[in-house]
Amino acid sequence: TPDNEFEKLIRPTVVPASQIGVTFDDIGALTDIKESLQELVMLPLKRPELFNGGLLKPCKGILLFGPPGTGKTMLAKALANESGASFLNISLSTIMSKYYGDAEKTIRALFSLATKLAPAIIFVDEVDSLLGQRDRRNENELPRRIKNEFMTHWDGLLSKSNERILVLAATNRPFDLDEAIVRRFEHRIMVGLPTLDSRELILKKLLSKEKIEEGIDFKELATSTEGYSGSDLKNLCVTAAYRPVRELIQKEQQKVKIRRKMQCKLRSQKRNPKVR
Ligand code: ATP
Repeated sequence: TPDNEFEKLIRPTVVPASQIGVTFDDIGALTDIKESLQELVMLPLKRPELFNGGLLKPCKGILLFGPPGTGKTMLAKALANESGASFLNISLSTIMSKYYGDAEKTIRALFSLATKLAPAIIFVDEVDSLLGQRDRRNENELPRRIKNEFMTHWDGLLSKSNERILVLAATNRPFDLDEAIVRRFEHRIMVGLPTLDSRELILKKLLSKEKIEEGIDFKELATSTEGYSGSDLKNLCVTAAYRPVRELIQKEQQKVKIRRKMQCKLRSQKRNPKVR
């Protein structure tokens, strides 16, 4: 069937939980968010019998929003990994890729594949580009059709409490989202820039497996990195880690130079023993 063909095309975007390298423990700070996600997602996926009807229903939509590089993607991956859910990583480019041809069929295949792989997390990165505000002048345009198709399948999930599929999305531009889409996210979680204490925790986490000088003042580092995101802190650590490597290479090159000089000197002494 056409759907099967499209499912095959979606498959490369699926990462089984066992192959996701990120855990909650790799994420510095963000404690409250990690706890909320564990309660909202992991518990219903692991113990669905506790969420069967009544007031408690498994959550089907969570939006993570905030500035770039604050750990939204990391949180999504860790969540899939630790809840044992397959991770379907979707973005506008996946849906619109020329290989996929028909965007609506691709979305249909996405949801049907997720149902087969459940428990599953459909992660939509940069959701504003895929499900942004409707442009009323272009009612029949492809973006609108994509949104409608996505919402139809999502609503299908919302009406069935036993489907163990979650739509998890991330954006840096929450205000660009279509209102109808925002409403479908039962939980909207802000992942902001790290505070002073959080920066200290993130720096400690990023450097926890590295050989570092004794007595590094993490508080001072955190103080001097106001406004940095987790990703900025990571880049800072990577840059710092290059320094000893660069020094080592320079020392090695220096040694090679000295050895070559000595060899030249020895050779010329052999040829002309009087030269000193
Ligand atoms: P974007 O909105 O640009 O997609 P994002 O919020 O999804 O960004 P991530 O991709 O999760 O951010 O983070 C980028 C990188 O920054 C991560 O791979 C990680 O190395 C580092 N990082 C960010 N936040 C943290 C954190 N709290 N603890 C440890 N590392 C972090």
